[in-house]
Amino acid sequence: MKPKAPHVVILGGNFAGLEVAQQLHALAGDAVRISVIDQKSYLLFVPNIGLEALSNRDPAASLHMSLAGVLDEDKTDFILGQVQAVDIESQRVDYLPNERPGAAPTSIHYDYLVVALGNRLAFDQIEGFAEFGHTVTDTYYGNRLRHFLFHDYKGGPVAVGSARFHQGTQTTDIVPTAEAACEGPPVEMGMSMGSWLKEHGYQGPEQVTIFTPAEMIAEDVGAEVVDQLLSLASKKGYHYMNRTHDIKRLTAEGVEFENGSSVEAELKIIFPDWVPHQFLKGLPISDDQGFIVTDRNMRNPKYPNVLSAGDASALAVPKLGWIAHLQAAVVARQIAMDVGQLSKDEGALPFKPSVNCIGDMGHHQAFYINSDAWYGGKKQVLKTGNLPYLLKNQYKDLFFRTRGKVPNWGMPLAEFVAEKL
Ligand SMILES: Cc1cc2nc3c(=O)[nH]c(=O)nc-3n(C[C@H](O)[C@H](O)[C@H](O)COP(=O)(O)OP(=O)(O)OC[C@H]3O[C@@H](n4cnc5c(N)ncnc54)[C@H](O)[C@@H]3O)c2cc1C
Repeated sequence: MKPKAPHVVILGGNFAGLEVAQQLHALAGDAVRISVIDQKSYLLFVPNIGLEALSNRDPAASLHMSLAGVLDEDKTDFILGQVQAVDIESQRVDYLPNERPGAAPTSIHYDYLVVALGNRLAFDQIEGFAEFGHTVTDTYYGNRLRHFLFHDYKGGPVAVGSARFHQGTQTTDIVPTAEAACEGPPVEMGMSMGSWLKEHGYQGPEQVTIFTPAEMIAEDVGAEVVDQLLSLASKKGYHYMNRTHDIKRLTAEGVEFENGSSVEAELKIIFPDWVPHQFLKGLPISDDQGFIVTDRNMRNPKYPNVLSAGDASALAVPKLGWIAHLQAAVVARQIAMDVGQLSKDEGALPFKPSVNCIGDMGHHQAFYINSDAWYGGKKQVLKTGNLPYLLKNQYKDLFFRTRGKVPNWGMPLAEFVAEKL
């Protein structure tokens, strides 16, 4: 390490933070010193939690990857700590080492700050969620659903859908405004639940209602793709409710919506509002909700040494791992250019949003979507079948096998296989 190498402090070590750390190390090597702070010591492979829960497998056993070990391979420092405040003017982050209670609050200085902290998934704002709600957004809730399905479920109706998302208003010239944060997961869980019900001796898709606060579910993948998905779902017997506006409350009987309607459901699988962390609100780098404002180079316009990637970024709409991946690559290139390790020609590739995702549908089938229509492009691809399902599992295996360093042919290959074969 060069003695005066700029210190890059990355807040958050899940998909966005880990990828920035690994790509920056690959591009800049000793020209930077990198520290990653996360409140947990492992990466959680979020997209496969639903699949694990429905297969009665513990996501803690299959979807956690040690962060410290992975980062140590690149000589990147890992700090197990909870970030509590950021002081932009003095370039300082305050955190609490959280391995054992009682640790003394500590600070760290940065030359570059990368905010990759994701968001708070605000289940605590949904009345009745604690008693009556289920979800698949983390290990705890994945296991809770698993135990419910395999021990307590009585075979009643199922409702799957989202609360309303509250997006900031400062970057709507780059990304349109969404009414739900991320609707691939509700579509995926709705469809895979229908298959699960059938496989376990219940009726099947006819028992499942998928709902959205918006005019159209998964609006960010484009109307053509949504029309095809809805027609496929309705042929299979799924019910669909749109324009629910928001979730008012969950009860033992079902879900009540802000628009006055309701749906009966024994099992309620809910995706909440994605809300920025409280300590990011009101900072000079944050928008009116608390998401980090950046240009397409993922730099804050007022503080160019502050960059952001993933769900914490105001440009990450929808909140998607694919978008975190695109943005992380931009962040790594930007810093590598600054420290003289990439030329402008090599490094200046700004963020170009698109949606690319694979969702489980049960029965070893999945849907694959690749679209940029919502951002003004022309691409709208939907493929369904066994191949996308294999790709979803292969991608996870490749991610774990390469310790997060999926080779750069990984994505194009998945695209080629899903779209051309
Ligand atoms: C059920 C579900 C299914 C999904 N499926 C897909 C999919 O199929 N494809 C896809 O592309 N995307 C999918 N997504 C979205 C994807 O998971 C997110 O977009 C992605 O995880 C964002 O990565 P991130 O690193 O920005 O944020 P996160 O993954 O949320 O990581 C944030 C990190 O910051 C840490 N952190 C938070 N607060 C603090 C703090 N105060 N101090 C220290 N550390 C902190 C957290 O511990 C965490 O490690 C899905 C999401 C859900 C919920």
